[in-house]
Amino acid sequence: MKFKTITFYKFFDVSSPEELLKYLKEICESLELKGRILIGKEGINAGVSGEKEKIKIFIEKIKEKDYFKDLTFRETDSEKNSYHKLVVRIRQEIITLGKSIDMKNKADYISPAELKQLFDKNEDFVILDTRNEYEARIGRFKNSLFLKIENFRDFPNELRNIQSMKNKKIITCCTGGIRCEKATALMKQEGFENVLQLRGGIIEYVNNFPGQEFEGDCFVFDDRLTISTGSEKKLEKCEICGIPCNDYIDCHNMNCDRLFISCKNCQEKMNRTCCDECKNSERQRPENLIYK
Ligand SMILES: [Zn+2]
Ligand SMILES: [Zn+2]
Repeated sequence: MKFKTITFYKFFDVSSPEELLKYLKEICESLELKGRILIGKEGINAGVSGEKEKIKIFIEKIKEKDYFKDLTFRETDSEKNSYHKLVVRIRQEIITLGKSIDMKNKADYISPAELKQLFDKNEDFVILDTRNEYEARIGRFKNSLFLKIENFRDFPNELRNIQSMKNKKIITCCTGGIRCEKATALMKQEGFENVLQLRGGIIEYVNNFPGQEFEGDCFVFDDRLTISTGSEKKLEKCEICGIPCNDYIDCHNMNCDRLFISCKNCQEKMNRTCCDECKNSERQRPENLIYK
């Protein structure tokens, strides 16, 4: 595959978000990279895609900055750009919890290999998925606990419903790790003592152990929406015909834009919309914005 998508984040004191924005935007534009980069006083959270060679140059280039030397990247391959445009923005929070927390409280890390050992030894622990419910529906660690949340901002409230687990050994996971940084800082603050966070998240785990303890597909916040994890398991059903299916699409009626699960056959049959009404709507998504 010709293209690579990388995601990375770091919490650190950004003295001038505006300067960092300008710096990264210029590099991305010169390399024709697409993506979504959020910068704040608290750090950076980014997903970038482009031709493999250019992604390599990007990584070398930004590592020239002292504060990026220790960055690690979650990498996936694709046939084309995973983003159709470049968006670089300044945000109050680089991942929105809507609550200020002391990041010094964040949990220690557990590596994918260490987690694999816990599974293999059948140890007593719980995996807490800090992602949204719609993400966990189509793919998650077997026997993991996921929350009825639509947005990470709902996490603090839902945490109140699992207070009984305070003394359990808990390992948190999310897509690439950033949500767990804040989630575990909050959990420790609220008295969850025995918490670890999965380093590099689900992406790093399935890159090392594809098709094993993580079942189904992984939701991603780019145009692909889902990526394979090496697991064949279908945890959900096509909303239209009912066959086992993990594929998400956004309804292409731009007035609807609903995220829903639809198999490839039904996507074609319905012109990638969610119902007959949407199929007949005038405002269909333009061809160049369709990721196929
Ligand atoms: Zn179907
Ligand atoms: Zn629709």
